[in-house]
Formats: sequence, C-alpha cells, structure tokens
Amino acid sequence: MIAEKILDFRDAAVVDAHCHGFSQKHVLEADPSGWLDRLTLMGMCLGSSNSVDKELIHLVPEMTRSTLLTIAAQRWLAAFFKCTPEAVPAQRQAALQADPAGYIKRLLSDQNVVGLFVDEGYPQPRVAPEDFEALTGTPVHRVVRIEPLILSAIQDTDNLADFEERYVQLLKQAAIDPRTVAFKTIIAYRTGLDVEQPDPAQVPKSFLEWKASGWKEDRAVSKPVRDHLLHVALGVANDVKMPFHIHTGGGDPDVLLHYARPSLLKPLLSRYISHPVVLIHCGYPWMEEAAFLAAIFPRAYVELSVMTPWSTLYIDRALELFLGSVPANKLFHGSDEASEPELIWLAARQTKAALKRVLGRAVDFDMLSIEDADRIGKGVLSRNALALHGLPA
Ligand SMILES: [Zn+2]
Repeated sequence: MIAEKILDFRDAAVVDAHCHGFSQKHVLEADPSGWLDRLTLMGMCLGSSNSVDKELIHLVPEMTRSTLLTIAAQRWLAAFFKCTPEAVPAQRQAALQADPAGYIKRLLSDQNVVGLFVDEGYPQPRVAPEDFEALTGTPVHRVVRIEPLILSAIQDTDNLADFEERYVQLLKQAAIDPRTVAFKTIIAYRTGLDVEQPDPAQVPKSFLEWKASGWKEDRAVSKPVRDHLLHVALGVANDVKMPFHIHTGGGDPDVLLHYARPSLLKPLLSRYISHPVVLIHCGYPWMEEAAFLAAIFPRAYVELSVMTPWSTLYIDRALELFLGSVPANKLFHGSDEASEPELIWLAARQTKAALKRVLGRAVDFDMLSIEDADRIGKGVLSRNALALHGLPA
C-alpha cells in the first residue's frame, strides 16, 4: 500500500450533505449518561421512532459496549481531548457545559467541515438555520422536507383545492430563501417509494377518504394523494431548478421497509429523467440498487449517510462498490447525524480514512493516478455536493 501513504484527506474540506439540526438546549439537556448510546444507530433510531416502545431504551447500553463505532469513538475522542478513553464522557460533558458552541466548533473545524445540508423535517419543530449556524460556526443550507409542509397545509384547510394552493405556496416560499438548496421527501415512511401517476379523479376521492380517516397513514387510502403531492413538489423543484432528495432504504423502525428499496423508484426516475435526484442514505442496505440507478440514470446521485458512520468496517467495501461502479462526481459524503454533534465529526473522520484506503488501493492497482485519487476523494467529501446544489467550492 504505497499510495495510501501519499494520499491524505485529513485537511480536506467536508460538506455534510445530510444531517439534522440540534439546539444548544437539546445538547445541554440530553442525559449525559446516554450520550454514547445516542451515537449508535440503535440508540438514535429509538429516539426518533414513534412506533417503538421507548422502554426498550434500557437494552441499548449493553449493545453500545459491543458496538464498533462507539468503541472506536471513545478511542478517537480520547486523542481529541488528550485523555484516556475511559475519561472521554466526563471530558466531553465538561467541554459541552463550559462552552457548547466552542466545543462543537472545535469538533467541526478538526475535520474542516465547511457546510451542512440540514434536513429540516427532523426534529420538529425545526431548529432555525440561523441558530444552528451560530451553534456550529458552519454555513447551514436548508433541505426543505415536503411532509411537514403537507401537514401545515392540512392544518390551514381541509378543502383539496385550497389545500393544494397553500401547499404550492409553501413550497415556493421555501424555494426563494437563499439558504434553500434542495427539497426532500420521506415518502418511504408514508406510502412507499413505488410512486405512481394517480388518475386525476382518484386524487379527490383519496383525499376525502384520507380526511375521513383522520389523516391516518395507510397505503390503501392516502397513497394516491401522497404520490400526487410528490409530483406537485417535483414540478415546483423543476421550475426553480432545485435538486430533489429522496429518502431511500432503511431508517428508524417507522420506515415501510418493504417499500423502501431504491429500485422501486425506477418509474419516478424515468419520468423525471432530466431532474437531479439524490438517493439519500445510498439505499442502505440495498446499496447495489442505488449504485446501479446512479450508474444508469444521468441525474441520479448518491448520498452515503447511514452506511457511514454506522457500517464501520464495511465502509471500505461500500465505497469500493460506489467508486467502482458510479461516476465519482455523483457521490456525496453525509452523516445523517440526528442526535449528537459528534456524529458529524465521526462520519467525516471515517469517510476520509476510508477514501484514503480505497482510493490508495485504486492507485496501487494502476486504476488511478495519485492526482486522480486526490481529486475524486475531495469531490466526494465536498465538491460534488456543492457543485450539484449551485454553491461555490
Ligand atoms: Zn436523516
């Protein structure tokens, strides 16, 4: 591994193309004894899920102790704090209590994080982008989720025509904010990725049934309306030339896993073939499907969160899949941080180290020159996401 020694992404700029906001109050009030648990996928998902018995949280600490990510996180943060791994939770708590913004800024600048694409749909109510930017010291770009806009429009009116007018107004309002860089849908959590083109007569009927059910989410009832509203949003996104982010693959236990496979998106991608669509979470665990879609649809892109940071050892293999089969300028680093600031740091650190190993091997195999590998790695870390979303490098 000669090239691996030469390639170095430690100081490379990072754009986290998918994360969630948190407030100073949230980080200060979260129970410090559960901090490591909230770094695990299990702990984070139990926090965000509405369908899981929250009592099960007592099972998490035992699992945390044998989760590779948290074991490594404690060692890596020990080097950051210059203390022993055992002392990390106390050191971290002291740093956070003394100066929350100072600590978070130190973490992000340690990995040279220069931009955050924030999915505003979680947590709700959303963290104001100005506040998140002040807390992180990092430019915050809005990714506007359509589902809270649908909910907000429903609260304003339950008449379909007025509702739709209000919804379009909210979409357009969000789009003109200079911070907004993309729209996003989590339709995989609502009615599934197998989005159809509903019959025009079906939408009002489905809307009335949905209303009568008290807005209960049910594929049999709300799918035609949800599908229709996604088409409406894609129409607005097309008018304002804004990429569309789509949650693909697993998430917390609330996701409709049977209807979350990226390949289900093929009809939608075909219909909007010239519109940029980002497959959020790289379709994890169906990563081959996401890679294939991005390899054949010219405007399908892949954001790598969930795979990173939580796949740890598997990150190298996943990067081999994506870098090996997808044009590399279509790949974006992301963390899916939705609980604790350290996840942004951990994901960036892991992607940098894995890119160094995987691209280093590609150089040793005579697939790439060092210059190619360096350019490709820096693209995945920041430049690709900035370019697609019209932001300066
Ligand atoms: Zn997310």
